[in-house]
Amino acid sequence: MEIRKLIEESETYLMHTYNRFPLALKKGRGMKVWSWDSKEYLDFVGGVAVNCLGHCHPKVVVAIQKQAQRLIHVSNYYHIEPQTRLAKMLVEHSFADKVFFCNSGAEANEAAIKLSRRYFRVHLDQDKYEIISAHNSFHGRTLATLTATGKDSLKIGFGPLLPGIRHVEFNNIEALNNAITKNTCAVLLEPVQGEGGVREPASDYFRAVRKLCDNNNVLLIFDEVQTGIGRTGKLFAYENYGITPDIMTLAKGLGGGVPIGAMLATDKIATAFQPGSHGSTFGGNPLVCAAAIATMEVLLEDGFILDQCLRMGKYFRERLEDLKKDFPEIILEVRGIGLLIGLELFRDGAPVVKACMDRGALINCTAGNVLRFMPPLIVTEKEIDQLVDILEQVFDTFS
Ligand SMILES: *Cc1c(COP(=O)(O)O)cnc(C)c1O
Repeated sequence: MEIRKLIEESETYLMHTYNRFPLALKKGRGMKVWSWDSKEYLDFVGGVAVNCLGHCHPKVVVAIQKQAQRLIHVSNYYHIEPQTRLAKMLVEHSFADKVFFCNSGAEANEAAIKLSRRYFRVHLDQDKYEIISAHNSFHGRTLATLTATGKDSLKIGFGPLLPGIRHVEFNNIEALNNAITKNTCAVLLEPVQGEGGVREPASDYFRAVRKLCDNNNVLLIFDEVQTGIGRTGKLFAYENYGITPDIMTLAKGLGGGVPIGAMLATDKIATAFQPGSHGSTFGGNPLVCAAAIATMEVLLEDGFILDQCLRMGKYFRERLEDLKKDFPEIILEVRGIGLLIGLELFRDGAPVVKACMDRGALINCTAGNVLRFMPPLIVTEKEIDQLVDILEQVFDTFS
């Protein structure tokens, strides 16, 4: 199909929930994607932090092919070998003891909210139900996770929202302390605010949050949908902060491109879910779990990719700091950890994204003026150099 016709039919048949670029992609390999009209692009969006091993990693492709030939779906009425194997891998590499599988980040957070309420109400017979999350956070689009999301513009027209959720300033321990009441059951936070503009906490923030939660008998939920699965150079971002949460949610990178979400918890909390408490038809089906196992295996092989992610993240930030010196009137700040990197501008980021696309690089802009880079963790210096060259050209045209 011709690109113009494709765009026309998209507008005819799809709900207009996205403002899409006039670009369609038909093929991808590693760091590269090719458009409908065969133009090549360097991909620094990575499917919004999903394609952690790049496009069509051969081991993930083979795992999907093999599993598709064997068994695609059977429902959770039965034991599913790849699901169990994936759960074991996640448990063996995290603080958690138990895993629940679903299909997206929002569903994982929804499950975390349900589990924490049920833990106090049913398990401990305590009337604690209030969830505290952060301003500027993003936790998903279902009604509960939209309520938890700290961005009012996303909520217009959807009320009444879920009662029992309140927001405090991120990275402000005093504000959190003041917000916790005897009814608070959980604090839900992203280790690094991704959609909110790649905002990192102060180095001692999460230790203080952990202590506050412990002292008040409140659960700590980490939304690692974006930061998990190697993005920060550790398998899970909480490892950077010297603490463990009680519940953690995953999605984006977990399946190397296929839709899968997971909610992990310690045994003590997980037992609040009993048969019938929660479920999902597709959750943890054989096909997506086979893809996720392959992804995890590649990621964990000798820690090679995690090391690479750390080194490339450092290199990338250094190059961006250099760029900031050349364009002090355009670049406000370089932020980020591992390969979740933000470049805050003094100006609107959308024209920069467009200009980079014209020059063969896909980047993302979030929170209006923050360029966000979430390349596959296999990105190399050469590709980072190519992107920084393109950014330099683009900023030149703006200054
Ligand atoms: C993307 C994201 C979500 C929502 O994930 P979906 O799969 O789109 O539902 C939730 N939390 C964070 C931190 C995210 O980045």
